[in-house]
Amino acid sequence: MNIFDGVKEALIENANVLVEGNLIRAVSAAPLAAANAVMIDGGGRTLMPGLIDMHVHLNMQFVGSGNDRAIQGAQLMTWEELGGLAYASAQEYLPAGVTTVRDLCGTSSGLQKHIDIGTLTGPRIYLSGACVSASSGHGDWRWNPTVLSGEKSYLEGLGLTTLADGGDAVLKASRNNLAGGADFVKMMSGGGVTSERDPLDSIQGTPEELAAMVKATGDFGTYSAVHAYTDISVQNAIRAGVVSIEHGNLMSEPETFKMVAEADAWVVPAMAAFAPDILEHPYYGNPTLPAYAKTARVNKNGEAWIKLANEYRINMAFGSDSLAVTPPAWRQTRDFQITQWGRSFGNLRTLQAMTSDAGKLLALSGIMNPYPEGKIGVIEEGAYADIILVDGDPLEDLSVIGASESMFGSAPRPTSSVDTIPFVMKNGEIHKNTLN
Ligand SMILES: [Zn+2]
Repeated sequence: MNIFDGVKEALIENANVLVEGNLIRAVSAAPLAAANAVMIDGGGRTLMPGLIDMHVHLNMQFVGSGNDRAIQGAQLMTWEELGGLAYASAQEYLPAGVTTVRDLCGTSSGLQKHIDIGTLTGPRIYLSGACVSASSGHGDWRWNPTVLSGEKSYLEGLGLTTLADGGDAVLKASRNNLAGGADFVKMMSGGGVTSERDPLDSIQGTPEELAAMVKATGDFGTYSAVHAYTDISVQNAIRAGVVSIEHGNLMSEPETFKMVAEADAWVVPAMAAFAPDILEHPYYGNPTLPAYAKTARVNKNGEAWIKLANEYRINMAFGSDSLAVTPPAWRQTRDFQITQWGRSFGNLRTLQAMTSDAGKLLALSGIMNPYPEGKIGVIEEGAYADIILVDGDPLEDLSVIGASESMFGSAPRPTSSVDTIPFVMKNGEIHKNTLN
């Protein structure tokens, strides 16, 4: 058994790992012994850290109800229907080798709590709580008549999103999220692709509002994230002290990449948007829908973006970011994004983005870190025992961790399982074992 430790290109050959409780106790090329230990023989496989998906929306998979209107459709669902769908979406991860996810708004701490105490099964969850958004911004999900009367939308009432205008309101909304169990906070600082009303170039989040979020999170020892595509929305966020840029796909000026690098900030790009296949997508590629022109514009920026990201060596982590899709559609997009990452940044960087680099960004949650005992995303002494076994060498071939060659040309995985990952351990507990 060889080990990819999440960091180094060179595998640790013919090595052993000793797990005690929920932590890794030892990693060694020499034989390891412990009284009453259960032996698992990895054979010729590669052992590596459990994968991390740094941008998910567990509570925004509004499918399975016959409702295809995404957020608008979700306004018609009861709370337990939404919660049930959130739990169903959480079931995608462990069988695919993903032991940790970071939820970028829409989810409160209920699911996290019950997975942690063992009532439910699923990955570790880091979460930002409700989406903090300006009125008319990317998280404004009111539809008439609420938008005209100024009332809260149903989903705001349930805590999926929260509208805040002005510094004091953002301070309050950010603190509300922290009080509700958020580990960090996310705000919308620019327009989005899927939303119908906020143009990509709209500026959301005044300097005062961004600073208020950064103040609230900084005072609690954690960090802030933003949804941002354009140079100006990214630059505004970096100037305010935000360290996690979600998407950033329209960054085009070298100055923006330089600012991200100098601030030691992170970008979690939506890599599917840069794939030529995206315009064959039934939603993003449908010229009659508002998302089409936005998607086409983002897609055109792909080549230049990847070049600048490589040149400035900005910190990046892997995120699948899909919402309101069926499980097979989610798998198709996510699996293809691994390939797209590999093509753009190489296999080693891709694997780091899904393990050790992702772990570094998670650790910025500091004293709010829900899993503070050990590191996540690495195989080393003292790290959490989040471990997978892979048939083959992922540094040579990303398909062994689920990468598929095309988004629509290949059939989606029929189940949540990535079958070339026969063994999944999270927090020292075995969640999948198909080794014979
Ligand atoms: Zn998102």
